[in-house]
Amino acid sequence: MIISLGIECTAHTFSIGIVDERGKIYSNTRVIFKTEKGGVHPREAAELHSKEAINVLKKALNNAGFVKIKVGDKLCFVDVLYELKKYLENKFTVFERFHEEPWNRYRYLILNDGVEVWVEDQKIKSTDEEIEKKLNKIFNRIKRDLNNFERKINLISYSAGPGLYPTLVQGAFLAKELSNTLNIKIIGVNHLIAHIEIVKLYNNFKDPVILLVSGANTMVLAYEGGRYRVFGETLDIGVGNFLDKIGRLLSLGFPAGPKIEKLAEKGKKLIELPYTVKGMDIHLGGIYTYIKNLLDRDRNISLEDLSYSIQEHIFAMLTEIVERAVAHLNKKEVGLTGGVAANRRLQSMLKSMCEERKIKFGTVPLDFANDNGAMISWTGILWFKKSVKGINTIDPYWRPEGIEITDT
Ligand code: AMP
Ligand code: MG
Repeated sequence: MIISLGIECTAHTFSIGIVDERGKIYSNTRVIFKTEKGGVHPREAAELHSKEAINVLKKALNNAGFVKIKVGDKLCFVDVLYELKKYLENKFTVFERFHEEPWNRYRYLILNDGVEVWVEDQKIKSTDEEIEKKLNKIFNRIKRDLNNFERKINLISYSAGPGLYPTLVQGAFLAKELSNTLNIKIIGVNHLIAHIEIVKLYNNFKDPVILLVSGANTMVLAYEGGRYRVFGETLDIGVGNFLDKIGRLLSLGFPAGPKIEKLAEKGKKLIELPYTVKGMDIHLGGIYTYIKNLLDRDRNISLEDLSYSIQEHIFAMLTEIVERAVAHLNKKEVGLTGGVAANRRLQSMLKSMCEERKIKFGTVPLDFANDNGAMISWTGILWFKKSVKGINTIDPYWRPEGIEITDT
């Protein structure tokens, strides 16, 4: 069983996820660099990442039910909940569970009388103190048995680009350190492809068109001719950043996307704005300037109507380029991801387009739509199995078209 620890570090988020080759996600832990205005300062973000890396790693291992075990000069990360489950199975009925809360996955065991068991700080914790004591004795016995562990982390994946140079360096550094000390393989994967792969895993999609809409990115991606390609993108700023910039104009605070969504629900009148689709691409700078001028002329404009109109225009533009890609490539599935994917109006526009075309639509919870380590782990496993050539360095401008992938 391949079990990968994946590191995400392309921008504001430093995240570690642990995933196995069946696609089970044991943990997905992160810290996010935040400023009042929402911009990412690359060096400051990298400083936070380097300071927090060890804490994120500890939490990812704990949440997954893995512990660090050292016998002699050998070090490994062992799936201790699995070892415990094996041990207990003829004495108790044991269920394995996963919490699905956003920002964190958490794996634990439930024994037959409802007692919960998890790992924290290299110890077994439980809702029953007596059982906890007994389990820790067993756990200490298990720890001496390095050769008999069936399941341990055996692949390190990291996000090698595209992204910000200073933050990419932090992730690659930790990945190499872990691969050396654990003596296991390492693979550098493409961040954009990882966003696609986690949507496919979650929705059980085979060959979708993906709309990735985050702060910095806005892209239409799909597999064609042996590689993932960018079929359309923003020619200037990402949709998330655009909404945040508008938010600054309107003093809405950061992040503005959710606030614009709320205001838009009460909007009634459609204010005409520029509609700027160029072939498969969009651009947003002109719309921003138009809105800025509109506000300069009329400070009493209804924020509800303006928010509503912004959403209707921008999301229609996005739906149009996605539909064009679907028609051109004859695809049967559409996936939506990135921070802006949380928007209900965008989801419903894409959904109706897909219903009209009788094709599938799917998105992912925020935990997997934002930058996350789980998607990097999962892509690492896929690439490892298909012998896709990753890179063992970093590339801040790494485009997916350059990567040959035999099938999806
Ligand atoms: P990411 O870069 O993937 O972390 O996404 C962050 C971006 O998503 C920010 O620009 C937010 O304003 C935007 N965002 C978050 N929630 C929503 C929402 N409900 N509607 C629109 N944009 C959103
Ligand atoms: Mg991203």
